[in-house]
Amino acid sequence: PTLAAQIAAGEVVERPASVVKELIENSVDAGATEIRVEAREGGKRELRIQDNGCGIASDEVETAFLRHATSKVTEIEDLFSIRTLGFRGEALPSIASVAQVTCLTRTAADEVGTELRIAGGEIQAKTPRGCSVGTTFTIRNLFYNTPARLKFMRSDATEMSQISTIVTQYALAYPNIRWTLLLDGKLALQTPGNGRLLDALIELYGIDVGREMISVDRTSEAEDETVRVHGFVSQPSTFRAARSYMHLFVNQRWIKPQGNLVYMIEEAYHTLLMKGRHPIVALNIELEPEAVDVNVHPTKSEVKFRNQSHVYGALTKAVREALAAQST
Ligand code: ADP
Ligand code: MG
Repeated sequence: PTLAAQIAAGEVVERPASVVKELIENSVDAGATEIRVEAREGGKRELRIQDNGCGIASDEVETAFLRHATSKVTEIEDLFSIRTLGFRGEALPSIASVAQVTCLTRTAADEVGTELRIAGGEIQAKTPRGCSVGTTFTIRNLFYNTPARLKFMRSDATEMSQISTIVTQYALAYPNIRWTLLLDGKLALQTPGNGRLLDALIELYGIDVGREMISVDRTSEAEDETVRVHGFVSQPSTFRAARSYMHLFVNQRWIKPQGNLVYMIEEAYHTLLMKGRHPIVALNIELEPEAVDVNVHPTKSEVKFRNQSHVYGALTKAVREALAAQST
C-alpha cells in the first residue's frame, strides 16, 4: 500500500476528543504559548480551539484544508524522526468533511486576519476579518452529515471526559504552554504555562498531590544510545486505583501506559506499592528518534524501542534512584 493508504488506515476523526487532539497538535506545532479549548455538549455541538501561534497566511488557508497538500513525510521511516506532531496533512480536510468549520487566523505579516468557513468539505466563504495573531478553529455539529458515525457518540459526559483527558495529557507534555479548558462554559482546567511540570501537576491534581511528588531526572547511557528519564512520580504513600494518573511521554509524545512500562515503573516501588494501586506519574522518556521503533503505527500511541531493555532499565533505575534519594 502507498504511504497515504498506510496512514489513512488509522482514522483521524473518530470522536470529539480526536478532533481536539489534532487541533491542539497543530497549535503546538504553530509555536503557541497559549491554547484554549472549549467544548459544548460533549463537543458534538461545538468545539473551539484558540491559539496564539504563528497563524496561517491568508493565501494559504484553503491549502491547509486540502488532503495531503501539506504532508511533511515522503517515507514511512521519516515518521519518528520528524520534529513536529503533524505530518500527514490529513486532519483539517478530514475534520472539515464531517463538520461545519470556521477558521479565523492571522500571521504577524498579515495586517488583517482571514475567516474561512467550510461545511461538509465545501468552502462556503472567505472574508477578511480583524483578529490577533494566531488561529481559532470552531467546529460545529460534528458528524452532522454522517448519521452513522453520530450514532457512535457516547453521552456528553463521556465525550467531555475524553476531551479532558486529552488536554490533561498535552498540558503535562507541554508545561511551557498555558492551557485552558472550558466545558459548557465552565473552567475545567488551567495551567500556568511557566514551563514547570510540577506547577502543571498541582494545577491538575491539587497542592496535596504536588507535595507528594518526587522529582526524577536520570540519564542512562548504553553503547549506542542515551536515554534521559525526567519528570515526577508520587511518594509510595500516594497512589491511585487507576492507571489514568500515569502519564508517559516519549520525546513529548503521549504514549499509552502499556503493561511493560507501567511494570518497570512500579518495579521501582517494589513492595511499597499495594497490589492494584498505581503511583501518580508524569515522566518523559527522551532518546534519539532513531531509537524508537518505526514499525508501530503512529496513531496508536504505542511504542517499541530499539533497545527495549535499556529503556526499561533506565525507567526503573530513574524512579528507584529518586525514591531512594527521598527516603534518606
Ligand atoms: P499536518 O498537521 O499533518 O500538517 P493538518 O491537516 O493538521 O496537517 O494541518 C494542515 C496545515 O495547516 C498544517 O501543516 C499547518 O501548516 C496549518 N495549520 C493547521 N492548524 C494550524 C494552527 N493552529 N496554526 C498555524 N497553522 C496551522
Ligand atoms: Mg495536524
